[in-house]
Amino acid sequence: MRVLILGGTREARDLAAVLVGEPDMTVTTSLAGRVRDPALPAGETVIGGFGGVDGLRAFLRARRIDVVVDATHPFAATMSAHAVAACADVAAAEEPAGPGSPGAGRLAVPLLRLARPGWTGRPGDDWHRVRDVAAAADRARELCPAGRGVFVTTGRRELAPFATDPDRHYVIRAVDPPTGTLPPWHTVLLGRGPYTVEGESRILREHDVRVLVSKDSGGDLTAAKLAAARALGLPVVLVDRPRQAGPAAPRWPDVPGVLAALRAITPRRPDGPSPDRSDLGRRP
Ligand code: NAP
Repeated sequence: MRVLILGGTREARDLAAVLVGEPDMTVTTSLAGRVRDPALPAGETVIGGFGGVDGLRAFLRARRIDVVVDATHPFAATMSAHAVAACADVAAAEEPAGPGSPGAGRLAVPLLRLARPGWTGRPGDDWHRVRDVAAAADRARELCPAGRGVFVTTGRRELAPFATDPDRHYVIRAVDPPTGTLPPWHTVLLGRGPYTVEGESRILREHDVRVLVSKDSGGDLTAAKLAAARALGLPVVLVDRPRQAGPAAPRWPDVPGVLAALRAITPRRPDGPSPDRSDLGRRP
């Protein structure tokens, strides 16, 4: 069975590491190519976009992909939507489905979503949830006195909303150096998780940070900053995950769940019939 993982997360790498050991599976992981030195998964890797829905659909056909696992970052909403559309389009082309036909309502290229849950607050947290990064910049300005620091961990590509503020010190952490317009008063810290509570606390103290800004990425790789903010009594502005419009793929929160779903539809007999993929449209 040929599995395409839409990657860019630790969970995607964990899944690839497991699947390369599966006797009946071949694994390809695609990466957006956003960072200069990406952590590469086991198995084949393709880097760079597909060229929209049409490009992804062509890739699925050319590689005769049997299953797609969308393990992209929770904020990579465009890629997730493209995956849904491309798998559905392949279904329409290969398996015309009318009411009552065997393929009705089913994806011909099944699509699974592997997405870690968002973070949940604990006693002592002072979280301010907002819709997007622009709203996060506004809220951070309200919460942080002039002359103090804002720790921005929302990535290097969406810094414009912070750039218009000359009055606060923006401590920006990113994997690669930011390229767009930056706030007049800023410090860039290059880093890649996992981080420790001790290290995060040191950053907050050394830069006189009064507000932390983060996306609700979930997972434990970057969660230490939340514990550090809690311990220091600092507010956190948390950007909510984007909502996906339209149909969504069946979803699992972790690698074992996806693995079980994949194994359930993998024939264990080498000479057996084609994989039965009918289970994949349903949640476990
Ligand atoms: P996006 O907005 O969902 O996708 C934009 C385009 O990037 C897609 O249309 C696709 O190009 C390409 N792309 C994205 N993920 C891909 C993958 N796994 N394989 C191949 N192509 C892929 O995603 P984004 O621009 O990468 O990021 C959006 C948000 O996610 C940002 O907030 C970012 O901070 C966060 N994020 C993303 C990653 C990541 O690895 N992508 C990691 C950490 C955080 P085509 O249309 O040409 O196919």
